[in-house]
Amino acid sequence: MPERLVVVGGDAAGMSAASQARRLRPDLEIVAFERSSYVSYSACGEPYYVGGLVASIDRLVARTPEEFAARSIEVHIRHEVSAIDLDKRQVIVRNLQDSRSETVGFDHLMYATGSRPLRPDDIAGIDGPGVFGLRTLEDAVRLKQIADQGPGHVVLVGGGYIGIEMAEAMIDRGWKVTMATSGRHVLERTLDDPMGERADRAVRDYGVELLTEARVTSVEDQGSQQVVSGEGFSLVADLVVIGLGAGPEVELAIAAGIPLGVTGAVAVDDRQATSVPGVWSAGDCAEVRHRVSGLPVNMLLGTVANKTGRIAGTNLANGDARFPGVLGTAITRMGSTEISRTGLKVNDATTAGFSPVTGFARGTVSAGYWPDASPMAALVIADRNTGQLLGGQIVGGPGAGKRIDVIATAIWAGMTAAELAWVDLAYAPPFSGVWDLIHIAARRAADA
Ligand code: FAD
Repeated sequence: MPERLVVVGGDAAGMSAASQARRLRPDLEIVAFERSSYVSYSACGEPYYVGGLVASIDRLVARTPEEFAARSIEVHIRHEVSAIDLDKRQVIVRNLQDSRSETVGFDHLMYATGSRPLRPDDIAGIDGPGVFGLRTLEDAVRLKQIADQGPGHVVLVGGGYIGIEMAEAMIDRGWKVTMATSGRHVLERTLDDPMGERADRAVRDYGVELLTEARVTSVEDQGSQQVVSGEGFSLVADLVVIGLGAGPEVELAIAAGIPLGVTGAVAVDDRQATSVPGVWSAGDCAEVRHRVSGLPVNMLLGTVANKTGRIAGTNLANGDARFPGVLGTAITRMGSTEISRTGLKVNDATTAGFSPVTGFARGTVSAGYWPDASPMAALVIADRNTGQLLGGQIVGGPGAGKRIDVIATAIWAGMTAAELAWVDLAYAPPFSGVWDLIHIAARRAADA
């Protein structure tokens, strides 16, 4: 009998692990179970599908079950793993089409169940039928169908990445959009105030009615409409979408006795191994180490899911790969304004024991005299005592956002702000000033 790998969850982490294991161990039997109707899909593309930029949902599917079958990876969609028995080394799988359950044994188990949108208990009615989250492709299809019936008024609860991207999508579809966030500004968990305020401006300039410090306390279902209320506001909506963050999907792990870490996600070492022999985990449901703080974090990013899945696949196939950690580098946009960040923001740096100082620079993406040069701002965060780079944030017009990769690379390499201030970056007037704003922000952080 060949050894069998069972994969629970068929998206980025699970299928990266399966594909890598197949490359390294042609002899391994690989079976993946996915409860939705799609595997290996791009959740990241969902807002752009709802907004009409991506023409068909199939474009968001990287590989179908048939394509996996051609690589000897057996994929069962609409199959939910309902229990894991670690002693018997088996999972119970329910076929969601006929509700029948079967037992499947495993030698290796890849736990890659991802995350789910948070629906906080202190918002009455948040579980109502008229309140939508965005996670699977099926969620995106449903939201697109509703968007197609509009235009109407959508209230977005939460000012995170999904809220921002859905706001752009629904404006593009002609809807009136109101965003209510309890934060002082959008993206409060990932941006410091000067950059968050710039992001707010971009949101408002795109036509979104943005309510900050507006904590939603209830959503009342009135049939075809919903009333979204909080202290001092009440909004009548045709559609409510929540984007209040997400948490790791760990119920199965808890029930099975797979240990969690301090963040509430599955605890793994840098080989993506849990403390249960033969059980691996990666992606949104698992912890990773932050390279700057050294602390465990639960980083819900596709970049991390693909990489950690590949690491798990290598190791479970008898290889030896170690995940080097994350910086939390992320990017989004609001219309033509690009918003990006990496590393620690100021208060997180303080919590992690650093003495953060910042360097802020404001100017234009291209040379100041370039026609239609669009505004850009950069923030660089460093440690006062050592100069070590800790983080960076950028808000600006086209061409600004991906500059964050320069700061991320510098942090990754352990550089100081003073060193970043002299890095040989490309320059010509259509692209930047002769001193890039990153240089200037880094120099100011070094001098602070
Ligand atoms: P998931 O993608 O959540 O996949 C887990 C899968 O497991 C799901 O398909 C689920 O149905 C299945 N599953 C769960 N439990 C079971 C069970 N018991 N049995 C069977 N199947 C089960 N990241 C970025 O880096 N950049 C972006 O621009 C970006 N944009 C995003 C936009 C949106 C709208 C969303 C929702 C996410 C975005 N992300 C982005 C995050 C990124 O999509 C996730 O980090 C990534 O998908 C995580 O992959 P995963 O495999 O760990 O989990």
